[in-house]
Amino acid sequence: MKPFTPKLAPWGSPVLLGIPLDHNSSFLRGAGQAPPLIREAFRSDAWNKTTETHVDLGPPGIFEDAGDLPTMESPDAFARIEDAIARIVEAGKRPVSLGGDHSITYPILRAIGKRIPAITLVHFDAHPDLYADYEGNPHSHASPFSRIMEEQLVHRLIQIGVRTLNAHQHEQADKYGAKIYEIKDLPDPTHLNLAGPIYVSFDMDALDPAFAPGVSHWEPGGLTTREAIGYLHALPGPIIGADLVEFNPSRDSTGLTATVVAKILKELLGKMLAG
Ligand code: MN
Ligand code: MN
Repeated sequence: MKPFTPKLAPWGSPVLLGIPLDHNSSFLRGAGQAPPLIREAFRSDAWNKTTETHVDLGPPGIFEDAGDLPTMESPDAFARIEDAIARIVEAGKRPVSLGGDHSITYPILRAIGKRIPAITLVHFDAHPDLYADYEGNPHSHASPFSRIMEEQLVHRLIQIGVRTLNAHQHEQADKYGAKIYEIKDLPDPTHLNLAGPIYVSFDMDALDPAFAPGVSHWEPGGLTTREAIGYLHALPGPIIGADLVEFNPSRDSTGLTATVVAKILKELLGKMLAG
């Protein structure tokens, strides 16, 4: 068995930031209620604080929590998200955002991509989220990766778990040079040939709804929780930031999905800290 004293990576602390925004959701609202429920599941006494990679997340200060941004209903929400993330990055720390719907990834990457060059964006999702706009909303949760690629905020975009690729989004992926690994063609996690710095954007609907029913858009045939963790563990690092989005508590009748989000968060933090 490996020793339980991993050498921690020489990168700044991960900082949790809740972003309770769900007005760019095209189908159902509710994801804005997620951040406190993710924290509650994460801190549950039902499990210990050591990750599968043997990082103990229990000691105070090993990561930070900046709390939740105040109400996101105002028109300046995206600007406030960008400012909050910029402050974390400029302090040399690594933002881990808890959504919220997927539209938040665009202002987050505006803050990070302008400050850290050559990011590889690793995006887990049932959907490519590459619409030029959705029902007239260019800031829809179905469009953030078009905005990110138009502004060249990252060097590469890799999508994993997609199972809803239509002709328009296929064209958009070609236009932006995005690499899509559809669910039917999943590669071995060690064969992705990724290089850091890496940013992880994790839409909970990447997982099969059997594992994570608390999402707005049920898309059966998805990743198992085990497969998703396998991909996270195989990332080469450094992971310079991440977001966990689209958990919708109004669809989570048993509370199981909150625990699955917390589990993904736990393993992600372990990877960030151990490099
Ligand atoms: Mn998404
Ligand atoms: Mn999705």
